[in-house]
Amino acid sequence: MDKRQKLEKIAKKVASCKKCSLYKKATNPVPGEGNPEAEVMFIGEGPGFYEDQQGRPFVGQAGKLLDELLQLIKLPREDVFIANVVKHRPPGNRDPLPEEIEACKEFLDAQIKIIDPKIIVTLGRFSMAKFFPGEFISKIHGQARFVDFAGKKRIVISMYHPAAALRSGKIMEELKDDFQKISRFLKNDDVKEVVEIKKEKQLSLIV
Ligand code: URA
Repeated sequence: MDKRQKLEKIAKKVASCKKCSLYKKATNPVPGEGNPEAEVMFIGEGPGFYEDQQGRPFVGQAGKLLDELLQLIKLPREDVFIANVVKHRPPGNRDPLPEEIEACKEFLDAQIKIIDPKIIVTLGRFSMAKFFPGEFISKIHGQARFVDFAGKKRIVISMYHPAAALRSGKIMEELKDDFQKISRFLKNDDVKEVVEIKKEKQLSLIV
């Protein structure tokens, strides 16, 4: 099976998943989409209204901003992979619950393993917490860090969620600055800038 087929298999499993109750009120599953060979993988929070309607991630207002940010760094959306920590819409766009994130974890972990991206960009608090539990986004946004994930060192950069940037001009500027790092790290590993995190903080990340 090639990467695309493996990702399709996961999407099918997501579509029939009943491990938490989110599927009950959702219109469509939103497993994620993009290039199976992506060097950059974005991980958001969960589908909103438009994503739920279309079965695609980041197609609403936050998605339009994500598209603009990608254009800013000349990275075509077709080249990246975009996923979320939960794959069905939380009703009324409420925050995903810990048990919902846990139920969906196997799908996201499998997607990361298959795509094997060079850089993971987390968008918002919930995907940040997957790699850096207990940290604050206001403190660590834009920092590139090596994380041992699934037996491999990967660069993970946490960023504000585009929806937060739509509400604050200051966050918008910070998010634009942080995005520039993606192209810098794609061109060369400016390793000096990468923060190594302590082994004991990473134990829960080894899947
Ligand atoms: N916000 C997210 O976190 N993910 C989406 O797919 C859309 C909006």
